[in-house]
Amino acid sequence: MSERGAVAVVGAGTMGRGIAQVAAAAGYRVLLYDPVPEAIQAALDRIRGSLSRAAERGRLAEPVAAVLARVEPRPGLEELAEAPLAVEAVPERLELKQEVFRTLAERNRGMLLATNTSTLPVTAIARPVPGPERVVGLHFFNPPTRMPLVEVVPGLFTSEATVDAALAFARSLGKEPVVVRDTPGFLVNRVARPFYGEALVLAGDGVPFETVDRVLRGLGFPMGPFELMDLIGLDVNLAATRSVWEQSFFADRYRPHRLQVERVTAGWLGQKTGRGFYPYPRPAPPSQAAPVPLARRAHLVGEGPVARALAARLAPVPAEEAEAIVDARVALDRKGYPPEAPPGRPVYTLIWGHSASTARPRYPQAGEVVGFSLVPPLEDGSPVELAAPEERSVPPEAPGFFAALGLSPVVLPDQPGGVGFRILAMLINEAYSALREGVADAATLDRAMELGTRYPRGPLAWAEGLGLPYLLAGLKGLFSELGEDRYRPDPLLVRRAAVGAFGGEGV
Ligand code: NAD
Repeated sequence: MSERGAVAVVGAGTMGRGIAQVAAAAGYRVLLYDPVPEAIQAALDRIRGSLSRAAERGRLAEPVAAVLARVEPRPGLEELAEAPLAVEAVPERLELKQEVFRTLAERNRGMLLATNTSTLPVTAIARPVPGPERVVGLHFFNPPTRMPLVEVVPGLFTSEATVDAALAFARSLGKEPVVVRDTPGFLVNRVARPFYGEALVLAGDGVPFETVDRVLRGLGFPMGPFELMDLIGLDVNLAATRSVWEQSFFADRYRPHRLQVERVTAGWLGQKTGRGFYPYPRPAPPSQAAPVPLARRAHLVGEGPVARALAARLAPVPAEEAEAIVDARVALDRKGYPPEAPPGRPVYTLIWGHSASTARPRYPQAGEVVGFSLVPPLEDGSPVELAAPEERSVPPEAPGFFAALGLSPVVLPDQPGGVGFRILAMLINEAYSALREGVADAATLDRAMELGTRYPRGPLAWAEGLGLPYLLAGLKGLFSELGEDRYRPDPLLVRRAAVGAFGGEGV
């Protein structure tokens, strides 16, 4: 590996040691400083362990000792001045980061100063630093050794040359950098907020954590929101939520939830304390009784994404011959019992934009009305959520009906939108708001979300796949029934839906 010159890394904690390892493995000499000697020693031990594991898997181009020899602990900040670039990963306090950069800037007038802050404005960190144009955000994701994404964040003072140098440095580490605006949460942490926030709202309204996690994993997310918060640490996640909320002048949709606050107060911080939303070691979730598949002659109403996905799994019959009605339209005011259908048949009605309870009066001729929600594309075993109107319960035929289509039924309390659609719709809405505010362009946004969070698809591509008018109809319904500002469709989504290929007919 060629020598690339020196890089200073300030702070040898979780992020600093990972960044140091990545830089050393890429051929840089790493000048590492931390005021706590044990932190340096612990970092060197962790780096050695991590490099050894990489070597065992054949992922290291040279001996462990050769890489490790390039990490040089330094006793003081002053000893870092020879490096042309410093990355700071000290605790998340504005004055501390300003002080570190001021000290470095005074020792080296040309040093590029990169901050790994997750929540502080880059402009605020740069303000008191001599030569603030050389300060830039370089936001790595945890663990830096494995996560390929780096957000490069110019503040108001940052020069183009600094951005170019930060991009080149990130690429030289083998990372994929994206340039994003210096706005609260930057890009990934902001667009991801509803993944946690909406899950918490649903749990607060009585949906079990396991149900939320199971549905989201079923949609292809690598982890559900509650197990992910337990992994990240509820304190860390709450701090990120609080920061975006405060910096957005308390915009309601970012508001922290009492379910996380009370656990943090109790010291239930997740895996690291042995308890968070779940206890650890985590007992196996109770296995659900497999529903008995029940083939049905169903009449399918609607032409949107859910109707199309179901049509491929269900041989639809004319209404006169139907034993069950599947109403896959989204907008509540378009729904109703097909006049040609014999009265008294069960109705399965899509609840993207309303609850099963509010849909019930649309079908006076029906037998039981059961709400269902699912998110295309469907695979065998994809979750289908079922909810009965208030004071009713889901009859056993309903899970059997959907099991016969190869889907995996989950019964939950009646919620507008269910779990999967609601969280996804909120993620997409947030993605449009970030796009509208110019935090990143569309391609960057989707790529960054895939790389930074491992979501199965970028939210904007997912939205287009579903069809914006259907998504918009769902959001409008949520806004109408739930009445909170957080569900208000983003104006850019409204405009894009209006000019799209579909005029919104048949939603
Ligand atoms: P950490 O607490 O694990 O490590 C911080 C280290 O900085 C400690 O070793 C501490 O001894 C050291 N330190 C304290 N004062 C210092 C000083 N004056 N000079 C040099 N070092 C000093 O924290 P972390 O999780 O690595 O976070 C560091 C930064 O990275 C924060 O800004 C955080 O917001 C950001 N970040 C964290 C994550 C994450 O998931 N942990 C992800 C992205 C960004």
